[in-house]
Order: sequence, then C-alpha cells, then structure tokens
Amino acid sequence: MSFSELGLIPEILQAVTDAGYTTPTPIQRQAIPVVLAGHDVMGGAQTGTGKTAGFTLPLLNRLARHASTSTSPARHPVRALILAPTRELAMQVYESVKMYSKHVPLRSTCIYGGVDMNPQIQELRRGIEIVVATPGRLLDHVQQKTIALGQVEFLILDEADRMLDMGFIPDIRRILALLPANRQSLLFSATFSDEIKKLADQMLKNPQLIEVARRNMVSETIDHVVHPVSSGLKRNLLAHIVRHEDETNQVLVFVDTKFACSRLAHFLERHGISADSIHGDKSQQARTETLENFKSGKVRVLVATDVAARGLDIEDLPSVINFELPHTAEDYVHRIGRTGRAGKKGKAVSLVSSEERHRLADIQKLIKLEIRQEVVPGYDPEPDFFDAEGGKRRRSSSSAPSPAAAPRAAEGSSERRKRSEREPREARETREPRERSPRSRQPSHIAPDGFDFSKPYEQRNPAGDAGSAEGDSATAELRSGQKPQRPIAFLLGGLGRKH
Ligand code: AMP
Repeated sequence: MSFSELGLIPEILQAVTDAGYTTPTPIQRQAIPVVLAGHDVMGGAQTGTGKTAGFTLPLLNRLARHASTSTSPARHPVRALILAPTRELAMQVYESVKMYSKHVPLRSTCIYGGVDMNPQIQELRRGIEIVVATPGRLLDHVQQKTIALGQVEFLILDEADRMLDMGFIPDIRRILALLPANRQSLLFSATFSDEIKKLADQMLKNPQLIEVARRNMVSETIDHVVHPVSSGLKRNLLAHIVRHEDETNQVLVFVDTKFACSRLAHFLERHGISADSIHGDKSQQARTETLENFKSGKVRVLVATDVAARGLDIEDLPSVINFELPHTAEDYVHRIGRTGRAGKKGKAVSLVSSEERHRLADIQKLIKLEIRQEVVPGYDPEPDFFDAEGGKRRRSSSSAPSPAAAPRAAEGSSERRKRSEREPREARETREPRERSPRSRQPSHIAPDGFDFSKPYEQRNPAGDAGSAEGDSATAELRSGQKPQRPIAFLLGGLGRKH
C-alpha cells in the first residue's frame, strides 16, 4: 500500500515524499483513514511505530479547509491541540507538524514550561491553528487568557500513560473541561492501565481501537541481552561494551538519577569516549544543545534519565543500554523504544546487579520474554546473583574484555565493594522524583491522579490553581505531592465538563 491510497490531499502527500517515506507504517495504514473519516481513536502504539505521522497527517488533512494566508489573527484560531508529557516530546511532535504542513498554510507552535512565556504569548497573538503543548504551561496560558480554546476541533493526547505516571491527569481533566464538546479526539498510549481506560472513556466518543503491537509488547526487531554484573563494575563494563561496538555506533545509556547521569558521562569522557548527559536539572537550552550534538554524531554516548529521554526521536539508534534497570517495567518498553524503530534492527543491553533481579523479573513478565543472560568475562555479578535462578548462567563468547579494560576490571575489590555499597544509597537520595511512578510512592488511599479517597469531600484550595504549573519535572513533582483539590461537584460528575 502507498500513501496515495490513503485519501490524503496532494500538498500533504508531497510533504510525505519530501520526508522520504515511501510506504505507510502499520499504524499509519490503520489510523489515517479512521481519523480522516472523523472518528475518535484510542491508539495503542509505542514510540518508533510512526504514530506521530499517523495522527498528524490526517489532522492536517482535515484542517486544510481552514488554511488561510490572511494575516488577521482572527482567521487563525486554535483548532487543534496536541498534548505531550515532556518538552522534548512536544518539540519533536511540533517538528513533525511543521515538516508535514510545509505545503499547507496552517500555523503551528509549541508551548512548554521552563522558558519565558512572553515569546509564546507573542506567537499565540499572531493566531495559530495547531498548538503542541505540555499540559502545565498550557494551563498557564489559559489562566493568563493568552490562549482561547473555544474553537478547538481536534484534541490529541500523546503518550497518555506517561502523562499518568507524571501526575498530569488532573491537568488533562481541567483542559478537557475547557474544550468544545463537539470535537474529534485521539488518545495514544504505549500501555493501557485501568486509569488510562477511564480517561479514554471520559475523553473519547465511540472510539475506534487501533493497536499495532500487542499491548505492552516491544518491537520484535530488538535483540535483548542482560549482562549480570556487580554494581561496582558497571561503569567499566559499560566502557568496555562501548569500546567493542562499531566506532560509528551511537549509544543511548539510561540511568536512574540525575547525579549518576552527569557522573557517568564524565567517567566515559575520562576514558576517552565522547559522552554527554541529558537530565531534568539542565536548562532547556543545554538539553537542546546536547540532543543536537548527539543527533549530529558529535557525541557518541548520551547518558539520560527516563524523563529527559522521553520521546527522543533519534533515527537509526542501534543500541540502548540500561545502566540500571528501570523501576517500572513499562519504562523498559519506553526506553528501548529508542532502538529497533521502523523495522530496523536494534539491541537492548541491560547491566543488571543482584539487587535489580526483581525488576528484571517484572520486565520479563511484561514483555513476555525471557531475556538472554550473558556474563562478560572479567565483569562478574555479585555472588548471590544466580542464587534463586539456578543454572541460567552462560558466559559470553563474543565479548572478551579488552586488554585495556581488564586491568580496570581488576581494580581493587575493596574499592569495588565500597562503590557497590555506596551507589544504591546515592541513587535513592538523588533520584529525580518525577521518574518514579506516583503509584509506587503513594499510600493506597491516594489515587494515581492525586485524589485522596480518605478525604473525598475536601474543598478546593483557592490558592492551589494549576496556573503556575509547568510541563517540567519541578512542577510535576510539586503537583504529585499536592493535596487533592477537587470540589464535591467534581465527584458527582459535574463541574462544567462539556462532554
Ligand atoms: P514515531 O513513532 O512517530 O516517533 O516515528 C518514528 C520514526 O519513524 C521517525 O523518525 C519518523 O520520521 C519515521 N517514520 C514515520 N513514518 C515513516 C514511514 N512511513 N516510513 C519511514 N519512516 C517513517
């Protein structure tokens, strides 16, 4: 099947050709006709499947009738709202919107937190049809009356499961209440928990369900491998693996904490491997520069936290290395979604210490795959690694340690022990709060969206508006720690929701 069979107008087909795409991906084949026909969509698709074009192309096609070269702002009301959980993802979606709309006179912009609002206000004043936004900053604009949402015809919620994990669902509900009931809505999520289904019920009308991969599954083109290794040897093993990779291969490395992120990048640099880090403490500009340097190949290894790496679209990334396994199994799916994209081969390598074995078990259960385990000679795991597992140990034949790595691997074992004792505590102390699922740190009477079942009638705190919220880590943390502020009417299904 070709793009021309999907019913898209020539201007959009031209943009697709310009992008170099010849064949629509499965999600595009399924989603494009359904969206063009005006249906709501609940899309189960992970990153890397081409889902952004899957929703952007038909959206632009439907908006094309409004396209106008008029300079009057009144001729360019906000007609489509695309919500993404992080600035990076919002920016990437925005880049796609710009690329696919280049032959149609529709205006688009991207608004996210952590940067000055004024340029965004100026931009919105010009009149913009398509707004890509993080939820908190969008609500800032709503509060300051610098955006009007009364003419929104399309709502797209991207990476809804991530929105949930980051505590954005109350913000999403606020935004929903501001939109016209008569609109087309699409919700995309890599995983579908009960909470996501509940949100979909509220947001979508008779949605068509589109799923391109089995739920919670990962791309079949990815080769997964676990290297059991003691935590004190991980850094050296990482350097060893990177050195044994093809020089041209870039690697994305995931760590748990901001602190570990910079430290690991420095370690690699010290060992002659060009590396940089991306995490929530870096300014937006620094993050953008780092990403650009990685994308252009100036930097070989990018060390990232989950939040910072969320939705990064880096083409042809051959491997992802989990320096630590993520705390939630779903994050493994998200992390390795950076490799094996669009049918290409990818490698997902995980360095697993004995204390992470339960995480490994959760991941294997979720992806329904027993991951191959290979001990790299010279980089053994803690003695208890195989205790409960019995007999699964296998030595890697392919990756003998380099002569340079071996002496380092044999660094004083007492130092190694000290490090392995120290690291978990540091990790706990410096973990980016937003990276932990709210579910894992909330008492059972607190719902994932922050609602406190032990205080169901608590009145709204007038000072506690979302006005100051931003789509970044600091405020998400704040928000997830906030007291629930729902008025009684909300509990009864009221409060001005128009759909
Ligand atoms: P996404 O899942 O939207 O993040 O897209 C993943 C990658 O696939 C992006 O780099 C897109 O540019 C690319 N892509 C999207 N659609 C196609 C297509 N039909 N053919 C080739 N590449 C595509």
